[in-house]
Amino acid sequence: MLKTLFDIDRIKYGTDEGTFTRAVALYEKGKVTQIECAAWCFSAVVLGTEPYRVTISARSFTKGHCTCYVGQKGIVCKHMVALAIHAVLTGKPVDEKTKRPGRRAQYEGRKEPLSADELAVVKAEISNAMKYIKAYRGPSRIWFAYQGSLSGGCAKLSEIVSGFPVNKNSADLLVRLLLRLDKKLCTGGVDDSDGTVGGFMTSVVEMLERFAEIDSTCIESFTPLVGIESCFGWEAPLVRLTEGKA
Ligand SMILES: [Zn+2]
Repeated sequence: MLKTLFDIDRIKYGTDEGTFTRAVALYEKGKVTQIECAAWCFSAVVLGTEPYRVTISARSFTKGHCTCYVGQKGIVCKHMVALAIHAVLTGKPVDEKTKRPGRRAQYEGRKEPLSADELAVVKAEISNAMKYIKAYRGPSRIWFAYQGSLSGGCAKLSEIVSGFPVNKNSADLLVRLLLRLDKKLCTGGVDDSDGTVGGFMTSVVEMLERFAEIDSTCIESFTPLVGIESCFGWEAPLVRLTEGKA
């Protein structure tokens, strides 16, 4: 079987949640049929309202086409994503973690600090997720895929940071993450008109406020935010906390 250059995470976080969920359902119900692979391409007949002819590249599942209404417009459709899932999993089940949708960042109650190894993994995962939060460079037909990439990146980041324990190191990491995202929004060409990235940032700020309640030493981590000019004033609640402490 031809090997893909993408994996299941890449599909999940490179697609909007609705399309991904529907694609998983198609895959699980065995609607991806007559799969063939040749010359860096997968093709199949995916059974939707009608049978659709679908082709995707083994290099990138977003490059391909489908004979359905959405696919004909050049938009990545659930049939293409279903075929991509099949190409990666070759009929094996989709695990529960993959099926779980992305969420907002929310402290999940971990108490023990991250070990050096865990910290290294977390940093690598954050850098990887940040790649999905990229500049928008048109054309307009890739808009949906682009929004999917932003929400996928934010979902992945939410998953990572929700597992952080409450301590100053975590607070430092979160503040740095917020500053990196702010830079992407202000000057990095990220088009967040749907508010996906902003919404994620707000949830991180709320998480930090909770941190400050539990462990007031976390408030020291907010000092770099004093006096900055951010893109939408997200830092205000945290800056207020530093003033309260002084
Ligand atoms: Zn389609």
